[in-house]
Amino acid sequence: ELTLPRPAEPRVFVVANQKGGVGKTTTTVNIATALAFGGLNVLVVDTDPQGNAATALGVEHSQGVEGTYEVLLDGASIIDLVQRSPHTPNLHVLPATIDLASAELELVTEHGRESRMKRALAKYIEASDVDYVFFDCPPSLGLLTLNALVAATEILIPIQCEYYALEGVSQLMRTINKVKGNLNDELELSTVILTMYDGRNNLSQEVAREVRNHFPEQTLDAPIPRSVRVAEAPSFGQTVLTYQPKSPGSVAYTLAAQEIANAARTEGAR
Ligand code: ADP
Ligand code: MG
Repeated sequence: ELTLPRPAEPRVFVVANQKGGVGKTTTTVNIATALAFGGLNVLVVDTDPQGNAATALGVEHSQGVEGTYEVLLDGASIIDLVQRSPHTPNLHVLPATIDLASAELELVTEHGRESRMKRALAKYIEASDVDYVFFDCPPSLGLLTLNALVAATEILIPIQCEYYALEGVSQLMRTINKVKGNLNDELELSTVILTMYDGRNNLSQEVAREVRNHFPEQTLDAPIPRSVRVAEAPSFGQTVLTYQPKSPGSVAYTLAAQEIANAARTEGAR
């Protein structure tokens, strides 16, 4: 088993793109799993009421299961509610249930409504030896995504290699800059990942080139190929890394996770 370097400080990523279906959840669960297989301690916080990240990581998230909602609205502790992903060592998940759908509105009247997750995460980091945290976000820029943007220090944007790929990214960048200026000056766009790439398709290649021109420092070398194995894995409560470890999607996400881990500032073991 490959061992990845531990970052000097825990790295907290928000996986954001307000466009739906671009590969946010798929990227979150696969990168998280690959880092955990590399020996790192990883937490995934499902911030989307759909709970797709929890599904793909094989953890319970039927209505009534406590998770992200209770942390945001009831002041519950993350460490009390995380579940270990059954297929992957060192990977914990704070699940989202459909109850989270109402949180967007319920948060509006709460004190410190944008920074509730940040405070909860600080306690978790204190109490655990987590190396990587990933927030899987819903396809909107509301208070759920805002809580993740305030809690994180790095943004990972998945961009689907299709028409209008960069549409919405400029709106996302404006939101990021507002959050940066007002609520979280540490926030940086560190990583862009090309998803559903088809090397035989001219459009896919063109989009990839355009994204690399736009984000030359941030775009990972490894694009994620479009592959049916990646799409079917969640129906088995798995990621493609455990479902079909040798498939192209699994290999690509492993390479992407290595790039992310190798970009970290490391200072030996903490
Ligand atoms: P988002 O979270 O941004 O809405 P998802 O990760 O749920 O996007 O992906 C949208 C759809 O595309 C899902 O059905 C998913 O299984 C599929 N998908 C994602 N990545 C790939 C890929 N590399 N190859 C094939 N299908 C993919
Ligand atoms: Mg999703």
